[in-house]
Amino acid sequence: MSLEWKVALVTGASRGIGRAIALQLAQDGATVACAATKAENAQGTVEAILSGGGKAHAFGVNVGDLSSVDQLVKDVASSVGEPSIVVNNAGITRDGLLMRMSDEDWNAVIQTNLSSIFYLARALTRPMMKARWGRVINVSSVIGIHGGAGQANYAAAKSGIIGFSKSLAKELGPRNITCNVVAPGFIETDMTADLTEDMRAFCVDKCPLGRLGAPEDIAGVVSFLTSDSASFITGQVIEVDGGLFL
Ligand code: NAP
Repeated sequence: MSLEWKVALVTGASRGIGRAIALQLAQDGATVACAATKAENAQGTVEAILSGGGKAHAFGVNVGDLSSVDQLVKDVASSVGEPSIVVNNAGITRDGLLMRMSDEDWNAVIQTNLSSIFYLARALTRPMMKARWGRVINVSSVIGIHGGAGQANYAAAKSGIIGFSKSLAKELGPRNITCNVVAPGFIETDMTADLTEDMRAFCVDKCPLGRLGAPEDIAGVVSFLTSDSASFITGQVIEVDGGLFL
């Protein structure tokens, strides 16, 4: 229970990777603010945490919209307390080849996956600076490191997260706030549900560990990064992909 008395905000906590992270941080003792596009979408995660004896609350937000994020930050602070841990996990894909990529698909992916992190980090690190303790964990992707055909928007956003996080690590380190990036490979969630059988077989075949990842594989790394054992780790990008890109 290393996180007892700490409040953690996890975005995209209704399902997939975010849900697993929320469950794990609650198990570590944190009170978890579980955010999704609608509070009711995150309610299942909250109930799972409460039934396990943990503490959690559900919130609705559009992470790509500044006023919605500002409202979330106020709501969390007034009903749960100031978060000292934030896991920026919410994300979307709008894949398409460059020649056919619409402005809308570009903007939606950049706003939801990248601008969201700027909005949330700017608002949430102020109280962390005062408290001289904080953990910012941003969920990128192996695509942000290695690129992906048909994913120029997603790769740009996920790569942007890395530069942003390294800069925050330098800026906030003197206040004892660490900022790290977790870059998942292919993980079994709704986001990868429509991978073709051929693509799935290719990933499994190419992966030294011979499987797609589970959301819990990411949650374990996030949990470690919030712990005291990781207090001297900042500005790092941890690829959690079963060795897929070795
Ligand atoms: P997922 O199953 O599709 O879940 C996405 C989550 O983000 C949901 O909780 C969704 O909320 C939330 N969300 C989406 N748009 C939002 C918005 N505008 N405002 C607030 N919340 C929003 O995704 P996942 O596979 O767990 O992925 C989680 C993160 O890992 C993403 O950043 C993704 O890019 C990254 N990632 C995933 C993989 C993978 O293989 N799955 C690989 C690399 C990186 P609702 O339920 O309310 O819609």
